[in-house]
Amino acid sequence: MAWALTPLTEEQRSIQAVAREFAATEIAPHTEEWDRESYFDPAIVGKLGELGFLGMMIPEQYDGLGVDTLTYLVALEEIATVDASIAVTLSVHNSLPTQMLLKWGTEAQKERFLKPMARGELLGAFALSEPDAGSDAASLTTQAVRDGNDWILNGTKAWVSSGTKGEVILAMARTDSPEDRRGARGISAFIVTPDLPGFSVGKKEDKMGLRASPTVQLHFSDMRVPGDRLLGQAGSGFIYAMQSLDNGRLGIAAQAVGIAEAALRHSAAYAAERKQFGKPIKEFQAIQFKLADMASRGAASRALLHAAATAKDRGEHITQFSSMAKLLASETAMWVTTQAVQIFGGYGYVKDYPVERLFRDAKVTEIYEGTSEIQRIVIARELYSR
Ligand SMILES: Cc1cc2nc3c(=O)[nH]c(=O)nc-3n(C[C@H](O)[C@H](O)[C@H](O)COP(=O)(O)OP(=O)(O)OC[C@H]3O[C@@H](n4cnc5c(N)ncnc54)[C@H](O)[C@@H]3O)c2cc1C
Repeated sequence: MAWALTPLTEEQRSIQAVAREFAATEIAPHTEEWDRESYFDPAIVGKLGELGFLGMMIPEQYDGLGVDTLTYLVALEEIATVDASIAVTLSVHNSLPTQMLLKWGTEAQKERFLKPMARGELLGAFALSEPDAGSDAASLTTQAVRDGNDWILNGTKAWVSSGTKGEVILAMARTDSPEDRRGARGISAFIVTPDLPGFSVGKKEDKMGLRASPTVQLHFSDMRVPGDRLLGQAGSGFIYAMQSLDNGRLGIAAQAVGIAEAALRHSAAYAAERKQFGKPIKEFQAIQFKLADMASRGAASRALLHAAATAKDRGEHITQFSSMAKLLASETAMWVTTQAVQIFGGYGYVKDYPVERLFRDAKVTEIYEGTSEIQRIVIARELYSR
């Protein structure tokens, strides 16, 4: 069933095989239970760290694996095929906070935060959204005010993936003053750690899917942040966040490709074994056509994703490409998992088979790191921008 669309190098194939083996042996036996109990297992993150999977695109100089984007994404696909919650934990860590630190961090910040993150000792999170600032993220209201060398932050961040365990959180806050609002240019990025006075973890969301990935609110209440925790330039945080989301969206697309691949595999196997009217249901053309469309759309999503990844590695501007890959892959994952539930009939609607979970997990890929509507806005805007 594996779609060999992009010729992978030997190194890429070997990292893909490591991810596949790890997912099968260390994750698969627990996926159902973690989903049911909404349990996030920190030990898995530690093991993934030992494999170097928490520093995949970080150069060796900063204790990372130093692999290219395509290698990272094929590994992520393998993990997502087995557990989309672990995949998003990896995706956020590898695509957002670590890349932000690599690109805009000082050497001291890299030493203190990036290196242990790349070694898998500290897990990263990304806090842009707020209760009243989602698609319109630039309208965020968390406020940072200078106090001597420090900053004092007040506000609530919402929907923070890995939020209960995130040890290094890249949080966006306003550094413009209420009298002189500068829109997106008034936002800065801060390196927040849970030990800061005034930091607290709020409500944990009780989600439809991705139940083994903790999503929480974070409260900053007169939280004192040392001056050396500002990332890059004051006022550039929103630009950093948006540029990082070009990477992030490739990770979410890989997660969606993995979910769709899993749904196809389970459906093909079930269709071969489930008999009605005296024969396996795969003998019915209606089922064959569904499987054919699932395989074709999945293959198209993966091909676009891999093309976007290689464009990124060539240093090209990938904003449009990355949104296209995320849009196609996420809508494909939702469509493919819907077909999968249909192929399983009543058994697809209960928790005895994995397609019910895959269907629930697929939905969020159309929502986070920009909804499908926002991806379409980005893609259309880019048509006129160059
Ligand atoms: C499980 C999960 C994990 C998440 N993890 C993180 C995280 O780690 N860090 C983080 O910062 N955020 C995270 N998010 C937040 C996520 O990015 C937002 O939910 C998303 O950007 C949408 O924002 P919203 O939920 O406020 O929806 P809204 O922005 O309120 O949108 C509601 C609806 O209106 C539509 N809409 C809005 N504006 C427009 C427009 N201009 N044109 C057309 N339609 C529009 C949207 O597409 C959507 O259908 C996570 C969310 C979830 C569900």
